[in-house]
Amino acid sequence: MNAWGSVRNPSRRKSLGKSQQLARATLAGLGLFCLCLLLTPAGFAQRTALKPGWNMFTPQQDIDLGKRAATDAARQLPLCNAPRVDAYLTELGTRLVAKLPTNGVQYPFEFHCVNDKAINAFALPGGYVFINRGAIEVADNEAQLAGVMAHEISHVALRHGTNQATKAQAAEGFLGIAGGIFGGSAGGALLTQLGAFAAGGVLLRYSRTAESQADVMGTQVLYDSGYDPRAMAQFFEKLEAETKGKNPPEFFSDHPNPEHRVERVDEEIDKLGGVPSNPKRDSQEFEAIKREVLALPVAKKLMPGAAAATKAPAPPSRSFATHQTSVYTLKYPDNWKKYPDSNGSGASFAPDGGVVDDGTGHAALAYGLIVSVTQASGDPNDWDALNSATQESIRELQKSNPNMKITRQSERVHLNGQPGLATYLSNDSPTGGQETDWLITTLRPEGLVSFVCVAPQTAYEKYDKTFNTILDSVRFPK
Ligand SMILES: [Zn+2]
Repeated sequence: MNAWGSVRNPSRRKSLGKSQQLARATLAGLGLFCLCLLLTPAGFAQRTALKPGWNMFTPQQDIDLGKRAATDAARQLPLCNAPRVDAYLTELGTRLVAKLPTNGVQYPFEFHCVNDKAINAFALPGGYVFINRGAIEVADNEAQLAGVMAHEISHVALRHGTNQATKAQAAEGFLGIAGGIFGGSAGGALLTQLGAFAAGGVLLRYSRTAESQADVMGTQVLYDSGYDPRAMAQFFEKLEAETKGKNPPEFFSDHPNPEHRVERVDEEIDKLGGVPSNPKRDSQEFEAIKREVLALPVAKKLMPGAAAATKAPAPPSRSFATHQTSVYTLKYPDNWKKYPDSNGSGASFAPDGGVVDDGTGHAALAYGLIVSVTQASGDPNDWDALNSATQESIRELQKSNPNMKITRQSERVHLNGQPGLATYLSNDSPTGGQETDWLITTLRPEGLVSFVCVAPQTAYEKYDKTFNTILDSVRFPK
């Protein structure tokens, strides 16, 4: 099933003027067909012609729906609130839109920066484009950012959102009903129905074919705007390479990676006449904006669906479960979940609602205990070795937690009769506000064993007793 036959059928005729078409008719008769290609402006003769697919909504309905969904999005998403960044995105976006083939429809394009470190961007029908700070931060140059934006606005011009909704409705047998609504132009009822699609994410869940089309049109837009047309594919390649073996970036969950992505973009560049000799790659504005975005404070957000996380988790149970590894054994409240590390003897223990999104798309522990074993050598009974390994480990923690501070210097303690150091730290809590981290370290033949007890500052007292019980339960093999 291919509703998008046009992808593979470059139309040469579309871009020809009337006189050129006449010339072509004449010359073709003389067997000189190929000559007329020279008459067309460079880059237009061979480009793939793309048109929106099957859609029972009107472009105006795309705009109405998109506007409504964008209002909701702007209310729910943490926006950057950085006027210079939004102005820059609007200026860059407007230049790209000027080269976007929209079939004569005037979409009210808007560009917003979202304070979310996850590498992502999305465009709602009608032209409401949201770009995560993560996408700006990871772009090497302006051309790559322009590539992502050109890709997004192509989804708008090709009306992929409402095309997707059309297909979903047809699949559910609503076509007749919806057709009736359109016939009667009952816009309100339609929007309600479309609102359900927006809420269900149908408008943003594109097919691989749609992705490939957005790549091809995005390449044309980049080319026509004077940017290096390879930049978009380079950005996607970079994303893929950097996240090999890790969680794929959010971008690929909304925009599935089409097969042969880079090859298809290169093919289009050939059709356009090759990479221009002096394409635009970077600008000082981009570098300045990227610095500004990198310096924005991180907005914290709660894990979607973890409604319980807005409330404090249930109090720790007084009965305990046992966790045993080759390095240590400990007991933890039996209403906490255990999250073993994929490698080594580390593990985290947290109550329901104790793990939240840290604002970068990664899970962060807000309440509970993290145990890790890191490389360090030294006699387990040597306080100096323990102290230097501990300070080193705190410096490492601070690298990924720039706001982490020592609030009470390390004090000597004993853990299962062994020298240990207890250090209090403060850090940004993923639930907002500050958290207290109580770090207990001890040297073992396997390395430095760290126990980090974590709770928001305001709730820490309620966990103090539980943390002490856990640490008292720690046993090391003889
Ligand atoms: Zn896409």
